[in-house]
Amino acid sequence: MPDKKVVVIGAGFAGLSAATHLAHIGYQVTLLEKNTTPGGRARKFEAEGFVFDMGPSWYWMPDVFETYFGHFGKKPSDYYDLIRLDPSYTVVFGENQFVEIPANLSKFRDLMESMEPGVGPNLDEFLKQAAYKYKVGIQDLVYRPSRSIFEFTNPRLLADVVRMDVFQSMSKHVRKFFKDENIIRLMEFPVIFLGEMANNIPALYSLMNYADIVLGTWYPMGGMHEIVKGMVQLAEEKGVKVHLGADVSQINIKNGIAKSVILANGEIFDADIVVAGADYHHVDDQLLAPEYRNYDEKYWDRRVMAPSSLLFYLGVDKKLDNLTHHCLFFDEQMGPHADAIYKNPRWPEKPLFYLSAASITDPSVAPQGYENLVILIPLAPDLEDGEAIREKYFNMVMDRLEKLTKQEIRSHIIFKRSYAHSDFKEDYNAFKGNAYGLANTLFQTAILKPSLKSKKVKNLYYTGQLTVPGPGVPPTLISGHVVAREVHKENN
Ligand SMILES: Cc1cc2nc3c(=O)[nH]c(=O)nc-3n(C[C@H](O)[C@H](O)[C@H](O)COP(=O)(O)OP(=O)(O)OC[C@H]3O[C@@H](n4cnc5c(N)ncnc54)[C@H](O)[C@@H]3O)c2cc1C
Repeated sequence: MPDKKVVVIGAGFAGLSAATHLAHIGYQVTLLEKNTTPGGRARKFEAEGFVFDMGPSWYWMPDVFETYFGHFGKKPSDYYDLIRLDPSYTVVFGENQFVEIPANLSKFRDLMESMEPGVGPNLDEFLKQAAYKYKVGIQDLVYRPSRSIFEFTNPRLLADVVRMDVFQSMSKHVRKFFKDENIIRLMEFPVIFLGEMANNIPALYSLMNYADIVLGTWYPMGGMHEIVKGMVQLAEEKGVKVHLGADVSQINIKNGIAKSVILANGEIFDADIVVAGADYHHVDDQLLAPEYRNYDEKYWDRRVMAPSSLLFYLGVDKKLDNLTHHCLFFDEQMGPHADAIYKNPRWPEKPLFYLSAASITDPSVAPQGYENLVILIPLAPDLEDGEAIREKYFNMVMDRLEKLTKQEIRSHIIFKRSYAHSDFKEDYNAFKGNAYGLANTLFQTAILKPSLKSKKVKNLYYTGQLTVPGPGVPPTLISGHVVAREVHKENN
């Protein structure tokens, strides 16, 4: 049994995963989290009888969660009740153009045929390739620590990399199979999770379409935070000491070796190994002396960050019509909004937005007869986000929402909270106020991502959505597992 002390910084999915994996194999693990509730970007808050998930709301890739809990001899159902949503979600293409995406594959195929007659065989081939990418990508590639090109140079894998369209863009790939503009938008939508436009995302990520269409959209009753609750319970069962309200201000290093982690209140935690699950840039820039930073400011400024978001958490005192649990409002053009996020960062003129109404599925997240809404507008990182501009965008999306769903909502809002860049910075030390970490562009994939191991501090590792394999709940669970394996390999 390795009798070593590990300090993990940050109780997001990645930190919780790393801590639990390490405790499971015998390390003495302390987990330090600055906020008073765990879960990082997936925290929840309660107000006036409503329970809001603050971040993720899409539960995709259920197999990754099964693998995670299965590693410890557990199942997700030991911690939460999972249901598959049907319809998976609704896409609103315009007035009276609400398309519900059915969970059932043959119904989905019928829907595609109704939008583009004769497209069925192309859909089958598209999904066959996506299934292959999912298998190799999610069951193999993402579990590689990506510390050396040699991890990817065995002949079978090289052949796979070519077969999986790593060097073709997602937008080209989708257009090979589909012509209908709305189908194209539907197929390109999942890469929004990866933080770039489809023309800058490798077609490898059509694996996300397999996750979407075939594996489905699920929901843990009680809310996404039930996953966090389960993970904290499991971590503690394994012996992890979780300290909330523990704001780390310094990693103390002597001769290239991390010796301890120091909190803002002066408390010191001795460490043989440190795993940093807080935002990578924050760790480099704020917690380390300049000579121990893995990357300098110039490096970070050149990174393509995934978007930030403006969110509204709303409690509504009536049930609403014409909505499903997840609704994507694609009633405006994607191009100009994408330009405002990625090319010429600015507040978009006519944003697309996403709405989650978890209370449609789950009565426990709102008082009876009420609706729990979360509205999300993806935005470029690093924008000014004062109260006036938030309110302007609130009214803009409300005008559209009320018109498209044909009902009055604003006058029924009894609770409202907004959340944007400055909150991401304040709450998570998020670089440029990012919501989803680092974008998964070709030049920020695998070995081209910020490394999970420090080049300058022998016993310092990084995990989370700014390192491998990337943003999203399933990838960050995997990130924690991968870093734990590296720690054990090098310290055992
Ligand atoms: C609004 C939003 C919607 C999303 N939607 C989805 C979705 O539907 N599906 C999906 O799969 N993914 C989604 N994501 C992405 C997903 O939530 C993230 O990729 C994931 O939660 C990131 O986990 P993490 O552990 O890397 O980082 P974090 O969750 O940020 O965890 C890092 C932790 O470190 C802590 N920390 C920071 N600095 C310090 C310090 N100095 N001392 C101590 N602790 C510190 C932070 O407080 C935080 O708790 C969404 C994200 C956001 C923000």
